[in-house]
Amino acid sequence: MRHARFLVPDLSAATAKDVVELAEVNDVRFLRLQFTDILGVNKNVEIPATRLEKALAGDILFDGSSIEGFVRTVESDMLLRPDLTTFRIFPWGDSQQRVGRLICDIVHPDGTPFPGDPRGVLRRQLSLAAERGFTMQTGVEVEFFLFKQGADGRPSTETHDVGSYFDLTPVDLGEDARRGIVDALEQMGFAVEAAHHEIAPGQHEIDLRSADALRTADDIVTLRFVVRNVAQRFGLHASFMPKPLFAHAGSGMHTHQSLLRDGTNAFHDPTGDFGLSDVAHRYIAGLLAHARALCAITNPLVNSYKRLVPGFEAPMHVSWSLKNRSPLVRVPSRRGSGTRVELRSPDPSTNPYLALAAMLAAGLDGIDQQVDAREPVDSNIAELSHREQRRLR
Ligand code: GLU
Ligand code: MG
Repeated sequence: MRHARFLVPDLSAATAKDVVELAEVNDVRFLRLQFTDILGVNKNVEIPATRLEKALAGDILFDGSSIEGFVRTVESDMLLRPDLTTFRIFPWGDSQQRVGRLICDIVHPDGTPFPGDPRGVLRRQLSLAAERGFTMQTGVEVEFFLFKQGADGRPSTETHDVGSYFDLTPVDLGEDARRGIVDALEQMGFAVEAAHHEIAPGQHEIDLRSADALRTADDIVTLRFVVRNVAQRFGLHASFMPKPLFAHAGSGMHTHQSLLRDGTNAFHDPTGDFGLSDVAHRYIAGLLAHARALCAITNPLVNSYKRLVPGFEAPMHVSWSLKNRSPLVRVPSRRGSGTRVELRSPDPSTNPYLALAAMLAAGLDGIDQQVDAREPVDSNIAELSHREQRRLR
């Protein structure tokens, strides 16, 4: 699967000409123009490389009425406007027939952004943060299961191993598949922080290093595609369902977040309570105040709520903590540029663009309203009496 030439150069200022050249030297024959529907499901239009220049000019029209959550048939024409910084080449397939991809923004034929484009929703929310002088940095821990494929190639709920947290081979038979996944992701320029077996049989986790929020959302949708694809090559089925197995831990997508102001971490203040700034305290308060509403977006499936039950390290109560792992919001011990808060409710079935936009909106609302977070709860809430839980609200 190793790719000989493509090393994901810095594309932050890439021009259409750079992308065309890169596609040429790497024998890219097909290009996928990707976007997501309202549910965060990847959609794409595949074009042959001969149409690349037309696509890069933002000239590929598609019928928006056939996409979940987009528009009615009377107003259905949409344009895909590729974001050149997202050009990547999938590291598998025949070396003469490479497939590349570009993530696109969706615009009306007159060039104005389509308001129902999830990526556009995140962009709008990020510009509201920018008006206040903030940029959002996010890192995620994506959990998922690898299941065996049934006789007819359909997914089963039979796991490929009986491994557990941080186990080593030979118990962890999914290790090869996970290495294949991480290898593919790295070849596509992902900053994979860590990857390990999770607590349930067949459960794995991949952590993505902190990056700007738009990049994180793009990376999550790509990660889901790459994980499914590589798993299939190993004869396994990858599932991002929040709770596929009743008796075992579910899959979360813990989201680490911080705000930067003038390039420095706005959550850190050595003189503030717990080394956290007012901005951080209010951001946490915003996440807590909107916790219930956030679930509609960060936990979108009926199955999502089967994960949010006692006994599996999934959050159950609206609280924050500096120490334990049972709360909704945890503040890891790192300070300085690594100061951040971790929201533990989201699960990997969410639309990451909408999820990050909603979390940021909640945090900014806390900052705007100058809400103060209540005291942290550092004991294990599951073990508190009903009375103590009531006292701590
Ligand atoms: N799988 C757990 C969840 O549903 C989290 C386990 C962990 O702390 O990584 O959120
Ligand atoms: Mg985990």
